[in-house]
Amino acid sequence: MSVKINIAGIVPFSTVDLRDKTAIVFFLAGCPFRCIYCQNYEYLDYKNLVELDEIKSMIDRAKEFVEGVVVSGGEPTLQDKQLFNLLKYSKQKGLDTEIQTNGYRYGVIKKCLPYLDVISMDIKAPLRKETYSRICGIDEKVAETVIKSIKKIFDLVNETKLEVKTTIYKEFVNFLPDIKEDIPEGIDWIIQKGYVERIPPGNEEKITELREEEIKKVAEDLANDRRNVWIRTESGDNKI
Ligand code: SF4
Repeated sequence: MSVKINIAGIVPFSTVDLRDKTAIVFFLAGCPFRCIYCQNYEYLDYKNLVELDEIKSMIDRAKEFVEGVVVSGGEPTLQDKQLFNLLKYSKQKGLDTEIQTNGYRYGVIKKCLPYLDVISMDIKAPLRKETYSRICGIDEKVAETVIKSIKKIFDLVNETKLEVKTTIYKEFVNFLPDIKEDIPEGIDWIIQKGYVERIPPGNEEKITELREEEIKKVAEDLANDRRNVWIRTESGDNKI
């Protein structure tokens, strides 16, 4: 039976997405969120249905050049069957796998877990429904569901498989101490620079980009009693 997958983009060779390994990256279309700073906003309503077998053939060819497969988005858990299928296929081919997710669907993560090496999950704001709904452009009921899902993922996933990412702008710096409290100790926390040039048109006035030195300073203050804090900027990943 023909199975299709909605693919918004492909990066054939990445050195920055799968920890210290090279990877092919697939961006799956669609996301239930509308984050104020979404850097992939063109993917949210994208439509490009491709045969799943075509993507598997691409993985077969990529295997000669890369060590892993990363599935990003949009929100990849929305296409749950296709995602499961792709991850399982990649592992069977001996490749490492990573998913980049907003943590929205715990059940899908749980099902895919045996075929995942890395779960890279966003924590966009303190885990309170009012703030989460405002930053992610979702209503509070949905925010509540997402927060529950994220907490269950914390309980489910071994800390070596899980890393969490927070995209930072000047207006969100005050969130960081509360976010720090929300993330269990032992999990890598990546504070990554947000870039204004990539956000949805019309939102430029709402958020302010930080310089690398400013992010480093903020992260150093947060890391004083916590291990595993990283920053991700134009210079790459650096442990604080
Ligand atoms: S969750 Fe990610 S893909 Fe979805 S709107 Fe937010 S930033 Fe964009």
